[in-house]
Amino acid sequence: MSTITCSRCGRTTEPMASTDFGGALGETLLAHTCPACWKEWEGQRVIVINEYRLNLSNPDHFSTLMRSMKEFLRLPE
Ligand SMILES: [Zn+2]
Repeated sequence: MSTITCSRCGRTTEPMASTDFGGALGETLLAHTCPACWKEWEGQRVIVINEYRLNLSNPDHFSTLMRSMKEFLRLPE
C-alpha cells in the first residue's frame, strides 16, 4: 500500500508510518486516516477526554473515546 485516501479529508496521501492500535482497528486507521488528520485527532482527543472527564482505565469511558475517534476520523465500521 503506497498511498491511501483519507476518510476524513478525502486527500490521497502517504499512510501513517504506524499506529498505537493493533488488530483490525490499527489496520483500519492505517488504511483510512492520513497523518494530518491523525494529528488533528490527537488534539481533539484531549478535548474529548476533558469534556467528558474520561478515565481511560474504565472500559466504558475508553469505548466512548473510541466511538468519538471513529466519528471524528469517519472510519468505516
Ligand atoms: Zn485526512
